[in-house]
Amino acid sequence: MQHRENHHKKHDLKNMTLDEIELFISGLGKEKYRAKQIMKWLYRSGITSFNEMSDLSKAFRAEIESIARISSLMIEETQKSVDGTKKILFRLEDGNVIESVLIREKNHWTLCVSTQVGCQMGCRFCLTGKYGFKRNLLPSEIVDQVTISRFNTPEGNDIKNIVMMGMGEPLANYENTVKAIKIITNDAGMGFSKRKITVSTCGIAPMIEQLGKDTSVNLAVSLNAPDNDTRGYLMPINRLYSIERLIAACKSFPMPQRRRITFEYILIDGINDSDGDAERLANLMNGVRCKFNLIPFNEFPGSEFKTPSDARIDAFRKILIKHKYTAVTRASKGRDILAACGQLRGTKENTR
Ligand code: SAH
Ligand code: SF4
Repeated sequence: MQHRENHHKKHDLKNMTLDEIELFISGLGKEKYRAKQIMKWLYRSGITSFNEMSDLSKAFRAEIESIARISSLMIEETQKSVDGTKKILFRLEDGNVIESVLIREKNHWTLCVSTQVGCQMGCRFCLTGKYGFKRNLLPSEIVDQVTISRFNTPEGNDIKNIVMMGMGEPLANYENTVKAIKIITNDAGMGFSKRKITVSTCGIAPMIEQLGKDTSVNLAVSLNAPDNDTRGYLMPINRLYSIERLIAACKSFPMPQRRRITFEYILIDGINDSDGDAERLANLMNGVRCKFNLIPFNEFPGSEFKTPSDARIDAFRKILIKHKYTAVTRASKGRDILAACGQLRGTKENTR
């Protein structure tokens, strides 16, 4: 198992998939179906103590409590943007802070969750990347961003989509991310559809292929440049897995009819935003079932890049459209509270 049980000896039930809870309680000589009861309590009621599990016998509750525990993230603070976006700062048991972002859509909310404390991938344009890497999140810590948000924010009930686009690179924390997906989608618990979950990656090609075998979530790839020189300059991962290798992995990703891979493309003034770049991008993706999310670069204190003009952004988008692609410009929300793409860094200081 990849995850650590930080400083507690007891097994955290929130780190376990249904299969694992079943195994765990059958080790105690209990019936398998009790695992579903436990999952219901954990994820449909959001309870945090065994005492409240009223359909389990007192003796069983006492027994399980002596060897297992139920972890819980703490909401440290929430911040609200002028555009309605909300950033939630969670305090982890070891004192680290991570962030989730609630994004308002037309009739529901999307929750953007983190998968690591910081990030190792070192992309030049990303504040999370600049801030460095502390550690992987446990499955429980990924899942709890959803559970706690659901039960403890006014918007919680209306969270319909989950995007793994917060702090960190999900495919660099692969096992824990997949386990979290299994827990979030389990019918006995929150029962999110896999189609409502999107994993966003900087392009770790072999892990994209693995993800396609292990789950059926949506895939988003942060592309950000149409050639290896520019991409390698912006994103060190490209020196390991070239654009060609990345596209091969994307083509192998299993997708039902009418599903498409999302390519995220940050538009950076003078770096990757010319008409020529758009043309190259259009040619590059010929034959890939995809759509484009264009994200105007979000400046942050100390960033070396600039946001292009609106006219430039529009011209770039129109070239992709001319080539029959779907391309939308994604207005980054929550910039005033540093909740927008690439602005998360997991500290309380200097964020207002
Ligand atoms: N590590 C994964 C998931 C994090 S998502 C990934 O990179 O895909 C973070 C998203 O924000 C990515 O699409 C990234 O390209 C984008 N991003 C990072 N820094 C940004 C910035 N300064 N402005 C706009 N988008 C940014
Ligand atoms: Fe990490 Fe993604 Fe930021 Fe790159 S863009 S540093 S992979 S979080």
